[in-house]
Amino acid sequence: MGRIIAIANQKGGVGKTTTAINLSACLAEAKQRVLVIDIDPQGNTTSGLGIDKEEKENTIYEVMLGEISIEQAICKEAFDCLDVIPSNVNLAGAEIDLIDIEDREYILKKSIAQIRKNYDYIILDCPPSLSMLTVNAMTAADTVLVPIQCEYYALEGLTQLIHTIHLVQKKLNPNLELEGVVFTMYDSRTNLSLQVVENVKDNLKQNIYKTIIPRNIRLAEAPSHGLPINIYDTKSSGAESYRLLAQEVMNNRNEGK
Ligand code: ADP
Ligand code: MG
Repeated sequence: MGRIIAIANQKGGVGKTTTAINLSACLAEAKQRVLVIDIDPQGNTTSGLGIDKEEKENTIYEVMLGEISIEQAICKEAFDCLDVIPSNVNLAGAEIDLIDIEDREYILKKSIAQIRKNYDYIILDCPPSLSMLTVNAMTAADTVLVPIQCEYYALEGLTQLIHTIHLVQKKLNPNLELEGVVFTMYDSRTNLSLQVVENVKDNLKQNIYKTIIPRNIRLAEAPSHGLPINIYDTKSSGAESYRLLAQEVMNNRNEGK
């Protein structure tokens, strides 16, 4: 059964999409069967994996509206072992379109249940908000992975995010766990990055990945080529660190964490 991981943080620009793309690609490189679902109307995971988001008519939006089955939305064209369900700007309307639907928090969970057995990992890239879409992702997920950017305001909003996770656990998905926090855009030349890491560790105490993702220009360039980092620049520090993160995610699972 596929393990479903929602990548969430209501702050924008913290590395959610970069982590969704490259963690997925590195899990696939390690011979895992991976599906990444883009749940952000910005569609950056979709385009970052070389898929023309404007051209796609079968996206997660049509799945959520019940117009197509989830199988029909799966793109196999991206990379070996890595399937993608795209999104585009239409998804921004989902919140309103689904307002009258009963059990609307469970829409994604119900769709994913139909294909879960075909994958080892299903990665959900969430939008930068705690909206209905993010709640749908957390309701469908086994775990939440939270990227935290190593900058001064890193802790801001974390309390609210953890509160939302607790609410979802209580009301919608009692099995949801915090997969872990991963630090992103770490800059070893500044004291600030180090201070942020120490500060968050003091505040959270648990579930922090050993792997820290460095700031690496190759990671920022790769999406404009429609490639994950392990293919765009396989020896870069970005590729090495996302491989280590993928390994940690697999180890945690085996150890039942
Ligand atoms: P989010 O999905 O949380 O909004 P993104 O993954 O899109 O964040 O990252 C925001 C910006 O930072 C993007 O331009 C991305 O290419 C860049 N970026 C993300 N992680 C790194 C990194 N480790 N090193 C350099 N640039 C990064
Ligand atoms: Mg994003």
